[in-house]
Amino acid sequence: AKANGRNRYEFFTKEIAESIRQRDMIEVLLKDALSDKTFELAYMPIVDLDNGDIVGCEALLRCPSLQQQGIGPDVFIPIAESTGLIKKIDLRVIEQAFVDYLQLKSRGFEGYVAVNISAVELRNEKFVGQLCELLAHYRVPAHKIHLELTETRLISPDQDAVAVLEDLQQLGFQLVLDDFGTGYTAFNQLMHYPVSGLKIDRSFIGYCDNPQKVKMVEIILALANVYELNVVAEGVETQEQAAYLAEQGCQYGQGYLFSKPIPFDDFCQKLEPGKLA
Ligand code: C2E
Ligand code: CA
Ligand code: CA
Ligand code: CA
Repeated sequence: AKANGRNRYEFFTKEIAESIRQRDMIEVLLKDALSDKTFELAYMPIVDLDNGDIVGCEALLRCPSLQQQGIGPDVFIPIAESTGLIKKIDLRVIEQAFVDYLQLKSRGFEGYVAVNISAVELRNEKFVGQLCELLAHYRVPAHKIHLELTETRLISPDQDAVAVLEDLQQLGFQLVLDDFGTGYTAFNQLMHYPVSGLKIDRSFIGYCDNPQKVKMVEIILALANVYELNVVAEGVETQEQAAYLAEQGCQYGQGYLFSKPIPFDDFCQKLEPGKLA
């Protein structure tokens, strides 16, 4: 038993050492990506479920050097958050999204661009000022930019965080609660957030035939209706799901049914009339 215990101990030590090495490696590659400017954005269309029109798109961060090792944003964003690198990354993403938005607009696109921002920014005193500068520099109409905040990471919406959200709203940005339904937002807290929309988490969309998950979708839609919030359903993968959602009054959707995240140029192609499958 003793030998066994030691083995297990060694096993865990090894595992921990391994995961620390992995974190360090990710941190190094993120720093490199920032200094070499090798981050990329992939775009996912957001469509009107009634007619399939593209009403907007979401910018998703890609780091090719990490992607090569099978490491995506779900893994590296939390590490970027815990190391503070996220502040630089978020700004870089927003700036690129502004540039891309202007390009889309010049091609006649009337929709919006959504970007993800970390909840870390709600504790970052410089954030609002930095966005203000970027807006002035690029002359982007803020109401065409949606800022998505993941609900799970908002846990307690204290005064300071709400104040930052209000400043962002004052600047004209549309604020959207991401992954809605997976976090801790008491429904009655919703009205304290200055948000204009929410995105129903993908985990509720995959199971149109699961009575419990379907109930949750219906509850969220009813709630959104009361607070007059726009709703985007995430992770729509089948025609059945899209039809069900439209029938329930969910206006917008996003997911592999319409398109996977694609390079900016490919997204531009899709905007040409009749190109969206
Ligand atoms: P998210 O904001 O909830 O983004 C949606 C994620 O679900 C994306 O994964 C997208 O590729 C995936 N997805 C969308 N539709 C479908 C579908 O129909 N089926 C399946 N299986 N998956 C679908 P991704 O790109 O790996 O991003 C993961 C998360 O990383 C994002 O979740 C977001 O929280 C975070 N993230 C991504 N880019 C950024 C960024 O620029 N800044 C920050 N702060 N976070 C980001
Ligand atoms: Ca998002
Ligand atoms: Ca989401
Ligand atoms: Ca997510």
